[in-house]
Amino acid sequence: MSKFELQPLNYQSNALEPVIGQRTIEIHHGKHLQAYVNNLNAALESNDKFNGMSVDDIYLNSEGGIRNNAGQIINHNLYFEQFKAPVADNKPMGRIASLIDAQYGSFEAFKAEFVKQGTTLFGSGWVWLSLDKDSKLVITQETNAAVPTSKGLKPLLTFDVWEHAYYLDYQNRRADYLNTLWQIVDWNVVNGRL
Ligand code: MN
Repeated sequence: MSKFELQPLNYQSNALEPVIGQRTIEIHHGKHLQAYVNNLNAALESNDKFNGMSVDDIYLNSEGGIRNNAGQIINHNLYFEQFKAPVADNKPMGRIASLIDAQYGSFEAFKAEFVKQGTTLFGSGWVWLSLDKDSKLVITQETNAAVPTSKGLKPLLTFDVWEHAYYLDYQNRRADYLNTLWQIVDWNVVNGRL
């Protein structure tokens, strides 16, 4: 049985400050994500059915704890990969910018809708920008560990709205966290997912 490993960050743990503090990154990546990896590995030890499968395929073909832990690994890898050091006036560029403008009218209008979906998601989960089968952008709320691939969508961008993602930096102010995250989105990474 192949063991899954924690995907390393491609930046230092303090690189996203002050948008996301070093302590949040250390706990979120080093403790929460590591626990999902450990839990999946432990569950697979007693289950040969998923031998040799990618974490994406395990997610789509499992249920219960295996599916939840696989989903959280996928979600967090996409989340941590898409960030870079803060830029105050950070904006989309290239193909994703054209798609956003064509479909939402402006980046400002898109952000407002995305943040609204993130703030109105009750409990723990993720707000996503994905591409549907007709190559249209779609914003979805996914609860707990769900991944948009289960709906046939191609994930492009995600903000984690589990409290562990923002509580040290923003306490209960989820909207402030969501509105500030735009400063650290690496739109080159998002374009690479199109
Ligand atoms: Mn998380």
